[in-house]
Amino acid sequence: MKIIKKLLVASLLLSSAQLFAADKPNFIIILTDDQGYADVGFNGSKDIRTPHIDRIANEGTKFNNGYVSYAVCGPSRAGLLTGRYQGRFGFDRNPHMDPTDITSGMPLDEKMISEVLKPVGYTSSIIGKWHMGSHPELTPNKRGFDHFYGFLAGGHRYFPEDLIYKDIAEGLAQENPKKIWTSWYYTKLLENDKRIETDEYLTDELSNSAVEFIKREKDNPFFLYLSYNAPHTPLQASQEYLDRNKHIPKGKRRTYAAMITAVDDGVGRVLATLDELGLDDNTLVFFLSDNGGPEKKNASDNGELRGHKGDYFEGGIHVPFAMRWPGKVPAGQVYNNSISSLDILATFAGLTNAPIAKERPLDGVNLMPYVTGKNTEAPHDILFWRNFDKGIVAARSGNNKTILFKKNQKKHLYNLDKDLSETTNLYKANTETYNKQQAEMTSWESELATEPAFKGLLMAKKAHAKKLKEYKNKKKK
Ligand code: CA
Repeated sequence: MKIIKKLLVASLLLSSAQLFAADKPNFIIILTDDQGYADVGFNGSKDIRTPHIDRIANEGTKFNNGYVSYAVCGPSRAGLLTGRYQGRFGFDRNPHMDPTDITSGMPLDEKMISEVLKPVGYTSSIIGKWHMGSHPELTPNKRGFDHFYGFLAGGHRYFPEDLIYKDIAEGLAQENPKKIWTSWYYTKLLENDKRIETDEYLTDELSNSAVEFIKREKDNPFFLYLSYNAPHTPLQASQEYLDRNKHIPKGKRRTYAAMITAVDDGVGRVLATLDELGLDDNTLVFFLSDNGGPEKKNASDNGELRGHKGDYFEGGIHVPFAMRWPGKVPAGQVYNNSISSLDILATFAGLTNAPIAKERPLDGVNLMPYVTGKNTEAPHDILFWRNFDKGIVAARSGNNKTILFKKNQKKHLYNLDKDLSETTNLYKANTETYNKQQAEMTSWESELATEPAFKGLLMAKKAHAKKLKEYKNKKKK
């Protein structure tokens, strides 16, 4: 009894924040944008050097079969941030940039990591690319993030002199429609709802903000979503980073590599900050890319994986993926079972006992028992993907990967253990296995929204092309 009393008194002397910090780990997700599977040192890159990113894999666990839930930015991030297949709530497209459309982004009744962790005492920050909606009700501060530093759209210019519009609406209001498309890449950065002037290369700005956030929140449990837009186009790198990649012939690949060097330096600064503040042992860090590399566009390299961003062959969805937590997650381990970005929220919730609403069950699982070897089963019986507009459904169960192209009824079956490059379609040789998995795909699809929840960016692009044509015709007259 005496001991309990003493403990009670001691705990009363501690602030509630300190109490939380004592048993609640910090969480960091470092997400890159359109980085190829082979473009990290830990996946064997020969020309792109990522010593700091590699620390996450080498001092933690590297996932050989790590997936995202969609093959392009917006929906992939929606899956990551909710731990649920984004098709369940119709997030099947990249949102279009219209700040007056409240449907274009994350539905308000879904809960994102920041919203799940808030009730258990976390302070959350998103630094970098949001892409979950630009309507005022959909912005980060309305979605559980206490701090936001970055931009709302799906990409951004990297040099401060390019950031000219005060907001997305101002960019869209240009008289000349030539200037409207991707004008959202040219907005000034936001800190919460305040427009700010910057003077550094964007990736460095984001890294600075991440380091400041960690320092500020060192005594509180925090969640940092460091959402770099690099190495997404436009390919723009500062001279310092280009000079460090002179071993790569001048051209797109050198610039792409330089953009990754900037990210890698930032990752190094984040890890060094954790170390300096004594937070290393209490911080779980995930690293991954949001989808496969669009090899032709940004000169990325998906290595032996077939296809690229947008595809349901491995090159679109199979990404560099690692987690690090000294003393908790085994170091130097390579984990081979398939895991998903959907597992990140479930892992955080599992570690903090954060409540998950019954009506919105997670599709991910807590990875901790699996990476520590407590559970030797595969985390997932099966993982699924759907592209609504293209009519593609895919699944992986064990080593069996199936893809159905509904429009022409093309059916694919690959054994990824023997054929990671998906060169030999086994559908005809093993129709029964294919059919069994297709039945599971069909059943999963029946659980999803029957229609996307909003008009996508590609549709907006078509409408814009029409407007542009009219404008040009009018000018000719
Ligand atoms: Ca992307």
